[in-house]
Amino acid sequence: MNTHSDLKIDAKITASSGSTPKDAAAVILLKHDTDASNPEIFWARRSEKLAFLGGYHAFPGGQVDASDIETRVDNCSDVSTATMIACAARELFEELGVLVARGAERLTKGQLVSLLDDLESGRMSFPSLLEHFELYLDANDFKYVGRWLTPSFSPRRFDTWFFLVECPRKQVPNVIDGELESGEWSSARDAFERWRRSEVICVPPILHGLKTIATGLTDDLAERFLSIPQAHGEPTRCIEFHPGFICFPVRTNTLPPATHTNCYIVGTREVIIIDPASPFEEEQIALASCVDELIAEGRVIREIVLTHLHPDHVGGVNPLLAHLNGSVAVAAHRLTAEALDGSIRVDRFVEDGDVIDLDGDPALSLRAMHTPGHARGHLCFYEERTGGLITGDNIVGIGSVLINPPEGNMRDYMQSLERLRVLPNLTVLFGAHGPATANPLGKIEEYIAHRLVREANILAAVQDGVSLPAGIVARVYTDVHPKAHAMAERAVIAHLEKLETEGFVVCDQDGGYISKRKQQENK
Ligand SMILES: [Zn+2]
Repeated sequence: MNTHSDLKIDAKITASSGSTPKDAAAVILLKHDTDASNPEIFWARRSEKLAFLGGYHAFPGGQVDASDIETRVDNCSDVSTATMIACAARELFEELGVLVARGAERLTKGQLVSLLDDLESGRMSFPSLLEHFELYLDANDFKYVGRWLTPSFSPRRFDTWFFLVECPRKQVPNVIDGELESGEWSSARDAFERWRRSEVICVPPILHGLKTIATGLTDDLAERFLSIPQAHGEPTRCIEFHPGFICFPVRTNTLPPATHTNCYIVGTREVIIIDPASPFEEEQIALASCVDELIAEGRVIREIVLTHLHPDHVGGVNPLLAHLNGSVAVAAHRLTAEALDGSIRVDRFVEDGDVIDLDGDPALSLRAMHTPGHARGHLCFYEERTGGLITGDNIVGIGSVLINPPEGNMRDYMQSLERLRVLPNLTVLFGAHGPATANPLGKIEEYIAHRLVREANILAAVQDGVSLPAGIVARVYTDVHPKAHAMAERAVIAHLEKLETEGFVVCDQDGGYISKRKQQENK
């Protein structure tokens, strides 16, 4: 039944999952005296190591600090706005070394460096540093261009205020080691084109910012920024991580820390809908109206495609079919179709290697990969040109994957991960839960390594004479909350079955396991 476990409980993720979004600010930095008809902005790639949106392209920014409220901001009577301006200015200084403060033009480069050092080393807070050097912020230097909420499918959520800021003359942004890995000036148009070519991945507010600025620094610039409800804190439903890869998270009865399953709508003209997942009516209506909008824009629904049989992936198939008047086919692996027989009608079987060609600009070509392990009939879909991989429940962006025998099989799962690992040109993983993963190899290798460590520890426990799965859980899963131990036991059984197949352990009559070595010694 269940698809995910919180086997690998990340305290931070658990703490912030589903909680109130944290206040944050981001800066869209415009080049000084940039060409108003083709403006240049500074954007950066986030470090691949970051748990939140690692490898994504973004604007500098971050979470509000307790001291931000103390920063002097002139021409701003509203405390919240002043605090967020202070946050934006501080983050910009910390991440790029650019100080947008009145009076900063008097400082030499060396002084700026030592100021930054005072801040980074914690010797001085941002407000006291400004005060000490007789500097202050002016709200006129920070043009408010919207406030975006991270959708609730994400393990971490922010309420981010965006400010458009012109880089002061003579100051040069410089990516400082930390959250950002590299950055550059780019015309907003070129940056947007890079996204269109699927070379970068970014979240909706960044894309909206690039698109808006690409049209030029017109008088109605701020209005254009604020012309959509998402720029006023309305949650974004459609997340187009890559052109033609729309992620539409829907609320499902999945396992924590995940609360949503990602439905993917793939294609720029002809489209397939992967995993219409939600059993909840209001979520089904939201998805249906997104699909209707796409149809109104000229897209054609080819098929509904299922990654696998679990209820938190197929809960909305029949209502969506009904909404589309039964006019589209449902496709899935034969094993998935057999398991769903009687509840969902599958019209077409998808086998390993089958290709779904989707006409459009750009055209997309999805190759099906039969990747059992989490479920027998599990399918992934690989788009080789862009390097995008729909991973279903094999690799997810939040929580971890449960291998629950007999549907789950650890040996198959490890082989499936290995097949995914060696795909050429892999750039993004579109998992069934949480945000897309922009460091695919790192993620897959982490998954494999994590399982291998568990397996080694489980084998060691058996060799030490711990025989029953529950005992093995108590010894090996010390990093896991006791609440998750029942699920961990399923994973242990999956590992033991793998070890048995490979000849390392044998199962005795009582459901316990002993190591092969010990069995031979006893004979
Ligand atoms: Zn599943």
